[in-house]
Amino acid sequence: MDLQEDLISILKFYKSLGIESIPLADSFKETVQKSNLISSEYVIANAVKINLSSEEKAQALKSLLEEIGDCQRCKLSKGRKNIVFGEGDVNTPIMFIGEAPGRDEDIQGRPFVGQAGQILTSLINNMGKEKGFNFQRDDVFIANIVKCRPPENRDPQPDEIASCIKFLNKQVEVIAPKIIISLGRISTHTLMGLKTPLNKFSISEARGKFFDYKINGMTIPVMPTFHPAYFLRNPKDKHLTWSDALVVLEKLRRTE
Ligand code: SF4
Repeated sequence: MDLQEDLISILKFYKSLGIESIPLADSFKETVQKSNLISSEYVIANAVKINLSSEEKAQALKSLLEEIGDCQRCKLSKGRKNIVFGEGDVNTPIMFIGEAPGRDEDIQGRPFVGQAGQILTSLINNMGKEKGFNFQRDDVFIANIVKCRPPENRDPQPDEIASCIKFLNKQVEVIAPKIIISLGRISTHTLMGLKTPLNKFSISEARGKFFDYKINGMTIPVMPTFHPAYFLRNPKDKHLTWSDALVVLEKLRRTE
């Protein structure tokens, strides 16, 4: 498998230069497939990603943070105190994606640290004790669709999401989680790539059923569930998100 390792290291080098894909001649594809070495471009693309070391992932996220810089790419820059990049373990198999920072998150520059954040932390820590798992909040990665707080905690608008989503996509590519849990209707609507108006989309109907998020050669299952803030008003529905979380853990257990 020396050839495979050489190929992966060449592809990593190209990737570090910002090259995201390499077109393959049909004759080369046939050779690769006959040799049973690597079966397709898809596998090659994933081989690059799943072989990123912790250091490479951390470096890639650091570079992304530098690229975001003092971002003024959308109007949310006007009212924010801090950009909330996201945080957690880059090697996590589970990534949680919410919609936007709130007041506490904006002040602290960290995701999900207010009241809703406490509910999310409790959910994650309880998940980490189930089905033979052993993890806590610090062991997963948490991010949002947009990285700056919308005024008065309003929903992020389509132009703001369009400006910011590339940063989240890059985080997903680098971390390459096995599963994403999408928190709430805006995150789910965005990751599903729906063009229908948000007010016609119901998280109550979408939750509990996996959909595929395809990004740059990877297909990642996403479990939609309620945003933790929903439980501040409807604590009796917490069991619904807990049942979604158990489905996620079962799927994760089967992939290990
Ligand atoms: S929300 Fe995203 S695109 Fe808009 S200013 Fe903040 S970091 Fe930039």
